[in-house]
Amino acid sequence: MIRINREICDLCGVCVSVCPEDCLELTETYLRTDNNICIGCRFCIKVCPVGALSEVEESDERPL
Ligand code: SF4
Ligand code: SF4
Repeated sequence: MIRINREICDLCGVCVSVCPEDCLELTETYLRTDNNICIGCRFCIKVCPVGALSEVEESDERPL
């Protein structure tokens, strides 16, 4: 799953445009992601110019 560092993200929208699953959504003040539909392709991580995105193991997040 994808984690967003909102302190780094400058809301450029590049990651939104490359996501094949439309998981990423940009609002006026923050970027959000729907990890339920993310396929882990990492395209968003590769294109982010400021390195605000990273992939984390599901086990790092709260249990279901
Ligand atoms: S890893 Fe792929 S599917 Fe998941 S949010 Fe990034 S671009 Fe979208
Ligand atoms: S590409 Fe990076 S800086 Fe741009 S909106 Fe996505 S996470 Fe934020």
